[in-house]
Amino acid sequence: MIVVMKMGATPAMVERMTRRIEDLGLKAHVIIGTERTVIAAVGDKRDGEQETLESCDEVDKVVPILAPYKVASRETRAEPTCVTALDLKIGGGHIGVIAGPCSVESEEQLLTSARAVKAAGATGLRGGAFKPRTSPYAFQGMKEDGLKLLAAARDETGLAVVTEIMTPGHIDLLVKYADVLQIGARNMQNYHLLQAVGDAGKPVVLKRGPSATMDEFLLAAEYILDRGNSQVVLCELGVRTFETHTRFTLPLASVPYLQQRTHLPVVIDPSHGTGIASLVPPMAAAAVAVGCDGLMVEVHPEPSKALSDGAQSLTPNVFADMMETCRTVASSLGKHLG
Ligand code: PEP
Ligand code: MN
Repeated sequence: MIVVMKMGATPAMVERMTRRIEDLGLKAHVIIGTERTVIAAVGDKRDGEQETLESCDEVDKVVPILAPYKVASRETRAEPTCVTALDLKIGGGHIGVIAGPCSVESEEQLLTSARAVKAAGATGLRGGAFKPRTSPYAFQGMKEDGLKLLAAARDETGLAVVTEIMTPGHIDLLVKYADVLQIGARNMQNYHLLQAVGDAGKPVVLKRGPSATMDEFLLAAEYILDRGNSQVVLCELGVRTFETHTRFTLPLASVPYLQQRTHLPVVIDPSHGTGIASLVPPMAAAAVAVGCDGLMVEVHPEPSKALSDGAQSLTPNVFADMMETCRTVASSLGKHLG
């Protein structure tokens, strides 16, 4: 339920109401809007709760939240959420660009990539140090050494580091080095991991699982929000279909669909979404045109030598051209890219 407080409700009234909600065995998420404060009261529904809360003096009205994802729903918060880490801003009119190699491979590879994506206007640096690979024999990442290189690249460039976490056991390690934690597609429904990043309090990029429905995607985000972490970005990278000419089938309709249902920002990953470098720039421009809040793009100084995902990685020059095009599309929509 959404408990809409009366206009001008004081912090003390909100606090009192929060306690009443918790006394009913529900969780209270306070959302301070520009006009009013609302409290999302979530938990197993019991008879009479709505009437009990509605009878309180400081309450204007109590309305049920229809969506199964309660805190993620636009019913709970009408204004778009902007997720921020250093200069990286995603949502609320800012199109954040996170770029860099699929995997951290060496100091030279990472620093060359970081400098190039920064020069082209990215504000986030991606790079996996712990890599979820289909084959156990494939390169699994540089692990903590890779995290150290990411932190050094951030120190030099100011780019916010976005890197994948694969297990709750790595939380302390990742939090030490990363600015934003990525939950990979394969882990979208790893509920203990979702709760752990919710508790970690760092911004999170949650990738859609290739067979997850939109409701499952939003309910996965809800696991993070439910722990009190509101800094969640949804990342669409496509779904698996009968079609094999691209790595996944990238549905750009997800952008407006999600934006109509949630206040969380929506990022498109055209690199994993297509698996083919030449398709990345046009799909990135299309994603901006359809209103995405951000892009995540793989860039490698020498894609043919990449230890993972070389076929979908852009060279720095192609990335810079892509950014130019996307900036033109963004400015025609009155938005800022980067
Ligand atoms: C990645 O971003 O390089 C990656 C491996 O993502 P995912 O885990 O979602 O496939
Ligand atoms: Mn990759």
